[in-house]
Amino acid sequence: NAPLSEVDPEIAEILDRELARQRGFLEMIASENFVPVSVLESQGSVLTNKYAEGYPGKRYYGGCEVVDVAEELAIARAKALFGAEYANVQPHSGATANAAVLHAIAKPGDTILGLSLDHGGHLTHGMKLNFSGRLYDIVAYGVDAETSLVDMDEVRRLALEHRPTVIIAGWSAYPRQLDFAAFRAIADEVGAKLWVDMAHFAGLVAAGVHPSPVPHAHVVSSTVHKTIGGPRSGFILTNDEALAKKINSAVFPGQQGGPLMHVIAAKATAFKLAAAPEFRERQERTVRGAVILAERLAQPDVVEAGISVRSGGTDVHLVLVDLRNAEIDGKQAEDLLHDIHITVNRNSVPNDPRPPMTTSGLRIGTPALATRGFGDAEFTEVADIIALALLPEPDVEALRARVAVLADAFPLYPGL
Ligand code: PLP
Repeated sequence: NAPLSEVDPEIAEILDRELARQRGFLEMIASENFVPVSVLESQGSVLTNKYAEGYPGKRYYGGCEVVDVAEELAIARAKALFGAEYANVQPHSGATANAAVLHAIAKPGDTILGLSLDHGGHLTHGMKLNFSGRLYDIVAYGVDAETSLVDMDEVRRLALEHRPTVIIAGWSAYPRQLDFAAFRAIADEVGAKLWVDMAHFAGLVAAGVHPSPVPHAHVVSSTVHKTIGGPRSGFILTNDEALAKKINSAVFPGQQGGPLMHVIAAKATAFKLAAAPEFRERQERTVRGAVILAERLAQPDVVEAGISVRSGGTDVHLVLVDLRNAEIDGKQAEDLLHDIHITVNRNSVPNDPRPPMTTSGLRIGTPALATRGFGDAEFTEVADIIALALLPEPDVEALRARVAVLADAFPLYPGL
């Protein structure tokens, strides 16, 4: 039982280097966050040793009496947090949660209607190399070329034409709120199940700063590690008892073997923290930070450089930057921001003239910096740094120094 630094100094060094990177850079990947130390503790705990196939009280292994309590807590807290009647907290990730959802509500060959990947959808919503695109007959809706918004008339038209079994509302890169009631009305009109994938905005929903899909959807899936800021994993909610049974059986034995009990315990803690007033305040700062960034990127100096913000702003935790008319492409912008120690990811924009490895867009998110403690003043500063970085001939040294001031002012994991 020697420590990691003795057993495996190479990996120990990687942990140290990654901590230093996370501390020194400003993390603005919209899907990332920093878990609290309490969550790190559960995830690095002896619960990783336990096999617990099945569900609390109905396991296929002995000795589950202690971990059962952890899973029951996670279930009860997820249900209370989102106002749902049933929760499955076992999915290892968002993608496995989504596979289980489709397994529960569709058969291979069924038609599924979802937002296309290059308009902001997720791989599991029907990308052709993903299980979803291989097993199901995918029809995709997109966003309007002018407004960058999902056009509900188009969703309805496609639903009436293709009569899907499942309609997916959810996204990985979309800066606005979806109209869940309108999606449900269309689903009811064509006899489809409405599945909302709230992986990105679940933290905003938990805090009440974004409408909840739970009253509208037949089933809701999510990750825990994006805006919620919990352990890397997924969960599924429903208010329908029959569907809850199908979902449980789709997760286990349909999709997974032994659940990750250390991660489930960490989910319980994350859900507990998400019910606290500080969490709501953090989600409010998250959204305000994104609005501040969108406003800075709409200033004349940025607009003159051919850069725009898709949909003209945001009401969530991210901003989509459109570089189609800019000199700089998505890859160059990502690399340049990395140079000044801000981490973002490039992203295709609809009808992107550049290839997927280059792209003409950036997705910039505020959850991790809000967790780090950033408020309006710091987001105003970081927005200005990003704007100046994207303009022609940026002063890289000066911008990197301004980033360092912000990073130093908000130490990450002090004492770790
Ligand atoms: N669903 C959406 C909308 C996502 O954005 C993501 C992750 O990016 C996932 C599902 C998948 O989550 P994971 O990476 O945990 O498999």
